[in-house]
Amino acid sequence: MLDMIIIGSGPAGLSAAVYAKRAGLDSIVIEKEFVSGGQVLLTYEVDNYLGLPGMNGFDLGTKFREHADGAGASFVMDEVSAIEACKDENGKPFYRVQGGADTYEARTIVAATGTVHRNLGIPGEDTFAGKGVSYCATCDGAFFKGKEVAVVGGGDVAVEDAIYLARLCSKVTLIHRRDRLRAAKSLQDRLFAMENVEVVWNANVTEVQGDKKVENIIIQSNSGASIAYPVDGLFIAVGITPVSKCFEGLVEMDDAGYIIAGEDCATSAPGVYVAGDLRTKKLRQIVTAVSDGAVAVSMAGNYIESL
Ligand code: NAP
Repeated sequence: MLDMIIIGSGPAGLSAAVYAKRAGLDSIVIEKEFVSGGQVLLTYEVDNYLGLPGMNGFDLGTKFREHADGAGASFVMDEVSAIEACKDENGKPFYRVQGGADTYEARTIVAATGTVHRNLGIPGEDTFAGKGVSYCATCDGAFFKGKEVAVVGGGDVAVEDAIYLARLCSKVTLIHRRDRLRAAKSLQDRLFAMENVEVVWNANVTEVQGDKKVENIIIQSNSGASIAYPVDGLFIAVGITPVSKCFEGLVEMDDAGYIIAGEDCATSAPGVYVAGDLRTKKLRQIVTAVSDGAVAVSMAGNYIESL
């Protein structure tokens, strides 16, 4: 019987892992991917993490993992499918976590599975995924060196992607469904200063066309007019969706599937805490995820003592 199972090893999970070790909690981190770090690994540059300006996202994610390893955290590679609330022979509550490879038991859970990118759901998107349609500029940008690409979205990720791609590609067209970007002002300033970036406002991409690879996208303005726009690649950055399926039935979630918890990270299930992007919150950033990891472990420590 462990004290704690941390599920997910992005910034929230890794922060929780470090705090759990420091608190002397008998804990493991379950991660389904080969590498830890989560979404931060896909970010070209993180410029808002205190003390580390201009840090490459992959390097930052790797440092986080090294820190957890150095603290003595134990990692298990497995994919959690379900979690069951149980009681031991003394009536003390615990959780049984069902993985693909094994079953794990602990008094507390820290849910830190984060989010994944959202799809546009338009014709041609699936057909041309990996053939010109991409969800990761830092992973695939190099394939489009000297070419013309489009980015869809208006948030931090879309603007970061457009800036990154503008350094590699001959032209970047950012297409946004409104007349104002959601991204941080500092990112917008950098974007608008780039000479090879064009912004198409008040428009959606409604189809991806091509033969063996992407050749055109259909851009439809909010007034209804459509054009076929030639591009070599389309980068889709239209937001995120929570990875919360394995917590269904265990804790309360909002309509979008985020686990409901306040700043104490406590969910509706006693002993289950949620940290990072998966939690209902106003600001999803690396720094708030790292903070959640620390808070969740502190709260879980108090809960274990109360048992
Ligand atoms: P986001 O902030 O939710 O932005 C998604 C963008 O896509 C919005 O501009 C939205 O338009 C647009 N969009 C959504 N659905 C669409 C559709 N069907 N068709 C066309 N456009 C659509 O998502 P994100 O940029 O992926 O960022 C996710 C979270 O991570 C955010 O909280 C962000 O702040 C955070 N983040 C933090 C950092 C950092 O800490 N350095 C870096 C990157 C991201 P509307 O604006 O009209 O809604």
